[in-house]
Amino acid sequence: MKCSVCPRNCSAERNINRGICGVGESFKVARAAPHFWEEPCISGEKGSGTVFFSGCNLGCVYCQNFEVSHDAFGKEVNEKELMKIFDNLIQKGVHNLNLVTPTHYAPMLASVLSEYKSPVPVIWNSSGYEKSETLKMLEGLVDIYLPDIKYFDSAPAKKYSDAEDYFDYASSAVLEMYRQVGDIETDENGIAKKGIIVRHMVLPGNISQAVKVFSWVAENLSTETHISVMRQYTPFGKAKEMPPIDRKLSSREYKIVKDKILALGFENCYFQCKESSTENYIPNFNLEGVDLL
Ligand code: SF4
Repeated sequence: MKCSVCPRNCSAERNINRGICGVGESFKVARAAPHFWEEPCISGEKGSGTVFFSGCNLGCVYCQNFEVSHDAFGKEVNEKELMKIFDNLIQKGVHNLNLVTPTHYAPMLASVLSEYKSPVPVIWNSSGYEKSETLKMLEGLVDIYLPDIKYFDSAPAKKYSDAEDYFDYASSAVLEMYRQVGDIETDENGIAKKGIIVRHMVLPGNISQAVKVFSWVAENLSTETHISVMRQYTPFGKAKEMPPIDRKLSSREYKIVKDKILALGFENCYFQCKESSTENYIPNFNLEGVDLL
């Protein structure tokens, strides 16, 4: 069957060949391990149970997980093996199951999650470049959405992700996510049980995108919505030769963004410190948690 799961609509017959997302019809996973560098209500003290899926339907030039997203590094696993990966993470005491870059596996994950009754919240951690009709199949199966809104304007979306229609899709997707789960609710320990956190990584030389994105969130979701304003950008891959994203974000740029976002009236903001902009925070993609089946 020709695939139209995501906005690329590339019509790949995934049982025969790979789509633009770089994978066929099997799950492929690069790493499954507790992760401690998500937002505090997600990572808590015990970590978030991240499952990094291989391939990506967006493919940003600056991706920090390039080998996993662009080169689709990982190991193929079937549904039962994926559930075993989930079990192993839960046994480690993680606060949640965090499905990272899951968009291109959405129908298959809906099937797995319908059968697998997770005792911890399930997180959909995505680029935002997805169809709202695809997300509808996840209603009741996903507890927490962690979408990026990467761009507001089509020019940077085209330049950095070859997706000039990015915001049209991401805005509809985020509205669908918000309809399903609403704002963040936490337990007595401050750990998220349900809701959405909208993320945006501020790109050097592109700070107007951050302000436009969060202005849209304030107008279309709520100023009570949790937002995460990320400053961890470090140039990778082709981005090292693409000014202005060939450098890190300056402190001045981040301060301008921070001041403007606070002025919008948001009550639940996560900001990052300068030290977050380092390769040290990139996970080691070595099949940890995948190769132990
Ligand atoms: S999910 Fe992959 S194969 Fe399907 S339309 Fe998107 S890029 Fe193409």
